[in-house]
Amino acid sequence: MLRIAIQKSGRLSEDSLKLIRECGISFVSSSYKLKVEASNFPLEILYLRDDDIPGYVQDGVADLGIVGQNVLVEAGCANLEVEALGFSKCRLSLAVPRGAEYNSVADLQGKSIATSYPTILGDYLAGEGVRANLHTISGSVEIAPSIGLAEAICDIVSSGSTLLGNGLREVETIFRSEAVLIAAPNLSAEKQELLDQLRFRMQAVRRAQR
Ligand code: ATP
Ligand code: ZN
Repeated sequence: MLRIAIQKSGRLSEDSLKLIRECGISFVSSSYKLKVEASNFPLEILYLRDDDIPGYVQDGVADLGIVGQNVLVEAGCANLEVEALGFSKCRLSLAVPRGAEYNSVADLQGKSIATSYPTILGDYLAGEGVRANLHTISGSVEIAPSIGLAEAICDIVSSGSTLLGNGLREVETIFRSEAVLIAAPNLSAEKQELLDQLRFRMQAVRRAQR
């Protein structure tokens, strides 16, 4: 039996469930059960917070997972990715207050930046030769500049309206993300065989959508 971890409720949930169903796998989902078994494929589905999924798969508590590359790379688990899935696309961007002067990333030298992605941002800044003070906060990053916590932010941007509403302007995209299928490092031969079947079906679903 393969065990797959997906996000319980959020921007990945609906498309993750849809993809599994489109692979021809039947299961009865209910909002209070955190674990369900499929009826026609040896698959068990675990519903978790997305942030916990890379760790569970890395440790082999779950064999597979569906998570955003942003969360995967931030967790230092990029090596677990086996298949890009094409949904939940978003970008991680730097933003500064609308009136602030900004010509290039060098202008962030010595500045304080609030983010939930210190690893990805730290790597990016190091690559640009910029040193800044990173403040790691787990949510509501966009309000940091207006309350004096930071001079810039780095966060997930989709429409840009949250930035605008908080008086911020997007200045740099540092990472592009989509949902990916991840797998534990040392699957048994039986589980690897099931994973191959599942990937084959996922690829067929994606081809049919193009
Ligand atoms: P959880 O409660 O599970 O921790 P969360 O609040 O961290 O959820 P969501 O906002 O549901 O996470 O986002 C889940 C993932 O969906 C993100 O990590 C990212 O990969 C992707 N995502 C985020 N924003 C968008 C967006 N606007 N459009 C598409 N995908 C997005
Ligand atoms: Zn999360």
